[in-house]
Amino acid sequence: MNKINKLLVHACCGPCFTYINYDLKNNGLLTEDNTRQKVDFTACFYNPNIHPKVEYERRKEAFETLCKMEDTDYVILDEYSLDGYIKDVVDKVLNKKEFESRCEYCYYLRLNKVFLYALENGYDAVTTTLSISPYQKHDIIKKVGKLLEDKYKIKFIYVDYRQYFRQGQKMAREKGIYMQKYCGCVFSFDSGKWVY
Ligand code: SF4
Repeated sequence: MNKINKLLVHACCGPCFTYINYDLKNNGLLTEDNTRQKVDFTACFYNPNIHPKVEYERRKEAFETLCKMEDTDYVILDEYSLDGYIKDVVDKVLNKKEFESRCEYCYYLRLNKVFLYALENGYDAVTTTLSISPYQKHDIIKKVGKLLEDKYKIKFIYVDYRQYFRQGQKMAREKGIYMQKYCGCVFSFDSGKWVY
């Protein structure tokens, strides 16, 4: 793989970012050909899927606390709209069927914004901490990442970090980072699926 100069890491939350932050800093980026390369990176919080607002603020704060604690460069794209999110799910997923599922729309919503930020700020690759969670849909993450890679001509890097999920959760707990109990949207909250 070509050398990556600036990587933008979409962070879905503090706990999922904990291990990946550690790994990037200490071991470098794991690439598709199974080699490592040192890389400058910035963590980017953009998750308007998280509801209700009080939970959104809590996760945002947890992310920021971790970044400050670990001296990691970060940016927060601060947007919240319960109405907008639900309208889009009804319109784009249920009515127009632009996306096959709510989660596909949700990944697209978040990663599209992160790619746009990467484009406007000179990053040459994007990755996401969604790839550490065994509860996420990895084939859809890869599909959406590839779509956006083609759209923005910025590399999408998928690393399957699932084997480190528990370790990352343990590290986050030890650092006192807030651990959420459901994926994020109002639907995942309402389903009572307490995933961690
Ligand atoms: S379950 Fe998680 S990934 Fe799926 S739509 Fe809700 S917040 Fe997004």
